Amino acid sequence: MIFAVCAWSRQPETQKKPRLGIVCAETVPQPGILRTAMQAEVERLLPLPSLEICWLQMEEFRLGDVFNKVVVVKLGSQGKDCATLTRPPNVKRLGATNVADGVIIPFVELDVDWIHWLVGHSSLMSAPQPHVVPLGRALGRVLAHELYHVLADTKAHSRQGIAKAEMDPHDLVWSTEGFRVAELERIWKTAFVPSIKD
Ligand SMILES: [Zn+2]
Repeated sequence: MIFAVCAWSRQPETQKKPRLGIVCAETVPQPGILRTAMQAEVERLLPLPSLEICWLQMEEFRLGDVFNKVVVVKLGSQGKDCATLTRPPNVKRLGATNVADGVIIPFVELDVDWIHWLVGHSSLMSAPQPHVVPLGRALGRVLAHELYHVLADTKAHSRQGIAKAEMDPHDLVWSTEGFRVAELERIWKTAFVPSIKD
């Protein structure tokens, strides 16, 4: 007989809000102020009042932690190597959601170097090195995009807002566009309603 402690386990009876666990793995430790800005932007873009978002570093994650959904985020720095062969050389991959056997799995990657480069080389920024808060906000917007793929279980993109396929520096730092209502509803119904009903 064998038992598993599962991070995707059912919501405990005493717990009222569904919990989304976002577990961050940083290949290079990021400043705390950048993390805070990233997290604030993700939470702003997911205005689901019944959802509790719990942020953890990988080393803090324990198998006994109970969440309705867990997404692991790798903050990596692949730089120029991550440009895909199927796209023009001026199009860089800022983030990606992993797919296995055609199924979206809850592991996403952000390319901190490319996001940093794009924000820093924007004419919208006054200095070549972007301030850490706008950079954190840009990371949050890319992360929110990838969370959409995982939580809504879709590979599709929209024509506008956070769910569109390509972002420029304005989209990353200055835009106030978020998800459409239908996209937020899809996230909620796909990721959290089934676990509440269990
Ligand atoms: Zn996408």
